[in-house]
Amino acid sequence: KVALDEETWSNSPLQLLWDYLRHNHEEVLRSPLCPVVISVTMYFIACLFYTLLDGLSSVMPAVNRYRIHPEQPVKLKSVLKALMLTFYNHVVFVFPAAVAQWYWRPPLPLEDTAPTVLEFAMDILGCIVLFDFQYYLWHWVHHKSKWLYANFHAIHHEYSQPFCWVTQYMSVWELTSVGFWTTVDPVLLGCHSLTGFAFMIFNIWVSVDDHSGYDFPWSLHNLIPFNLWGGSPKHDTHHRSPNTNYEPYFSHWDWLCGTNSEYLASPAMAEKRKGNKK
Ligand SMILES: [Zn+2]
Ligand SMILES: [Zn+2]
Repeated sequence: KVALDEETWSNSPLQLLWDYLRHNHEEVLRSPLCPVVISVTMYFIACLFYTLLDGLSSVMPAVNRYRIHPEQPVKLKSVLKALMLTFYNHVVFVFPAAVAQWYWRPPLPLEDTAPTVLEFAMDILGCIVLFDFQYYLWHWVHHKSKWLYANFHAIHHEYSQPFCWVTQYMSVWELTSVGFWTTVDPVLLGCHSLTGFAFMIFNIWVSVDDHSGYDFPWSLHNLIPFNLWGGSPKHDTHHRSPNTNYEPYFSHWDWLCGTNSEYLASPAMAEKRKGNKK
């Protein structure tokens, strides 16, 4: 076991976590399969969490009030339809792509030292800002070109009121683009492996949260000031009026390019805001 000198430790509290992961799960972390397994697992955990909330919402008005459209419960039929495509995409595309990676790519080297907390935070922010810009461009082009829209993006818009499983209800081309940036962005920005994994997990979580249809006090868009983070209310509007709000997470590109529009809050949050204003 590598002794941790005091200086390294004081530079990065993440060292303890990184040492634990490296010493106990090195083989797993170095495997080219690891990113795919992390993404798929995180996706199912996040979706199961919101599915559970959807179930609770149907019997508990106190939870339902935090939904953007409390009057429209999530229908089982819609969930099953979305699940069918999710499984199809995973079996026919994600699984073979993962096996191919595992076969062709050599195991990745792991760094000895962990990033500092500041490096970690700045790199995650960098990855999110970059991904947000890439998806904004992709998304804008796929709405502007009728051919691209019809062939690659229309499927995601079959649902005008999103819920968690709509997140990856998308064409293989869109899934590939998103998967490609998630993998490449941390490499482009020279991020630590730990940061790369954390970005992947964070990105999956926020993409599911964007489609969840929930607007909680602790949702990022209610914590980050100046409406800089659009979150679920903003993406909900995109599904209802598709020529607005192309940006997946932030709002700056939609503001700068004039593609932003008003969004709805959940009744609970609207009431809270009214109360705060009084
Ligand atoms: Zn969407
Ligand atoms: Zn769209």
